[in-house]
Amino acid sequence: MNVLVFSDIHGNLNALESVLKAAGSFDAAWCLGDLVGYGPDPNECIEYIRDLPNLQCVMGNHDAAGLGKIDLDSFNHEARFAARWLKENLTMESVQFLSGLPQRIETMGITLCHGSPRNPIWEYLLDLPTVLANLAYLNTDICFTGHTHIPVVFRWEEQLEWFNPIPGKTYSLDATMIINPGSVGQPRDHDPRASFLKLDTETRTWELFRVEYDIPSVQERIRKAGLPKRLALRLAEGW
Ligand code: ZN
Repeated sequence: MNVLVFSDIHGNLNALESVLKAAGSFDAAWCLGDLVGYGPDPNECIEYIRDLPNLQCVMGNHDAAGLGKIDLDSFNHEARFAARWLKENLTMESVQFLSGLPQRIETMGITLCHGSPRNPIWEYLLDLPTVLANLAYLNTDICFTGHTHIPVVFRWEEQLEWFNPIPGKTYSLDATMIINPGSVGQPRDHDPRASFLKLDTETRTWELFRVEYDIPSVQERIRKAGLPKRLALRLAEGW
């Protein structure tokens, strides 16, 4: 089975459209959360994602914030402003879809969650000690996470190591691994191109992709929506 694995779309329709075009055909779509937040097109992105084939989708912290499920004081100033805007702009259908999302999914021997297996909504996997502690919370060898917006692989085989995957190279699922496909709508590794991966569950191999999209058009809609300017600026720099 060919699976599109993607995360952190953040209401960026141009980035999502570019990813879906570049991904070609796939049998299933696994979405690791934060469909909304920061970006100007939350409802449009949900409409696209909802209709993807064999969708498995978990809830992220911005999805939860849009539903009023988490205290906005835990967000920084900009994220808080954007989350308020989001709550005012989500349609009933979008709220209904986001409300139904689980925090964690196990499918085909693979765990899907937004932040970490231990704390799926909030925890960032940014260092080896945190990742190591999280391995105890996995029932599967392989886990896909998002949340940090940085493509990374944590690999455990005798010891824990990490690396940033390179687009165009084929990688195997050959150990205990936590893999982050990067972000569709707000990359933060100083590469502004939208990020995603494609997994072949038969050969147990996967490949990372980066694709360009129309950033100025999204920036303009961010400004028109009255969202913080910095949210538009950062897209061009990838941080
Ligand atoms: Zn995010």
